[in-house]
Amino acid sequence: MSISSEQVRFDQQHIWHPYSSMINPPAAYPVISAQGVRLTLEDGTELIDGMASWWSVIHGYSNPALNAAAHEQIDKVSHLMFGGLTHQPAIELCQQLVEMTAEPLQKVFLADSGSVAVEVALKMAIQYWHAKGKPEKHKLLTIRNGYHGDTFGAMSVCDPITGMHEIFSGALPQQFFAPAPTIKFDQPWDENDCSELEQMIIEHHHEIAALILEPIVQGAGGMRFYHPQYLKKARVLCDQYNLLLIADEIATGFGRSGKLFACDHADITPDILCLGKAITGGYMTLAATLTTTEVGETISAGGAGCFMHGPTFMGNPLACAVANASLKLLRESDWQSNIGRIEEQLKQGLAPCAELDSVAEVRCLGAIGVVELKEPVVTAEIQPLFVEQGIWIRPFGKLVYVMPPYVMSNDDLQILTTGMLEVIREYSAKQ
Ligand SMILES: *Cc1c(COP(=O)(O)O)cnc(C)c1O
Repeated sequence: MSISSEQVRFDQQHIWHPYSSMINPPAAYPVISAQGVRLTLEDGTELIDGMASWWSVIHGYSNPALNAAAHEQIDKVSHLMFGGLTHQPAIELCQQLVEMTAEPLQKVFLADSGSVAVEVALKMAIQYWHAKGKPEKHKLLTIRNGYHGDTFGAMSVCDPITGMHEIFSGALPQQFFAPAPTIKFDQPWDENDCSELEQMIIEHHHEIAALILEPIVQGAGGMRFYHPQYLKKARVLCDQYNLLLIADEIATGFGRSGKLFACDHADITPDILCLGKAITGGYMTLAATLTTTEVGETISAGGAGCFMHGPTFMGNPLACAVANASLKLLRESDWQSNIGRIEEQLKQGLAPCAELDSVAEVRCLGAIGVVELKEPVVTAEIQPLFVEQGIWIRPFGKLVYVMPPYVMSNDDLQILTTGMLEVIREYSAKQ
């Protein structure tokens, strides 16, 4: 397998990449293979992947167990419509999801991507209140600095500014935004942090279907870790004022924050839970939205008599088979101490970054390490410096961050964090 320079040029001229320009985009790096935590480029360069392909490749690339699951399933049936038909990979996957998540979450909707899982969650919440004879409860409440995906419903609950969708604001349904939590994960708690959220709920609960938030870790909207008491209080307020609570754990699910699910930091259970990213170990696109028996049955007892959603590729057997293998691998491993090991390494390795003048803050939680700079970086300028160090990191704005595959060794983590320090120092010196 090789990629010619003409092919790279074709890519540059004709293919959109995530959030890319069609005017002089920088050439994307051509990857010819990936093994464990390393990507191999066309020219033979090896890069240690600090991004886990955006949170997803938790067991590393070309994992033997996941490869075997995909091969085995593709020889049986690769895809099957889910309307009226079912199959073992979906059944086993949903059994695992029901077992792994909090007891009240019993009903599973398999979606094709994270954004779709969020759309499904929002539709569930709206249909729930419609079925309860309260169709006026169709607005959503969220907190600032959030990111929930790129489709329309999801965009409407992304932070209007940091959530990357400001241009669309006129075309989106207007939702309610409470200020972002300010008390950090390990700071002393202050009850006032929730007071504006509470005020908004008191004033508008009669028109709000649900509060949607990313528990504990706000991802693409700012990479911030907030206090578990905030989440606890949000749960209490939702119960008190009849709002469903939607936890978007698409980034945090399956151990990333140090708990199996970030909601576990606050010991709360959402009414609706969105999962994605790491679910197939980064092999295929798949996501899931789970809810309680009460929400599932209320929706189904409503006028429509069913939940109004059903994608063509729902429950894709190939994706479900790989997800099964991925979750088994995770559950059979001592993931908790492994994540603790990565957290320690990231904390130690990134601590020297805090001494640099250009750095505002260094923070780590679970297998997530963030260096927040004082000024935004120009990705096209900083990206080649990481590649020179033999590491793959894709910063955005002021954030240089990593969420490595869980299988990364301490030696490779050391290379990753040393490379980050070097690049940030070098890049800042040139500014
Ligand atoms: C990535 C992400 C999404 C969107 O998932 P896609 O698979 O990219 O559609 C939604 N919510 C959160 C918290 C995410 O991190």
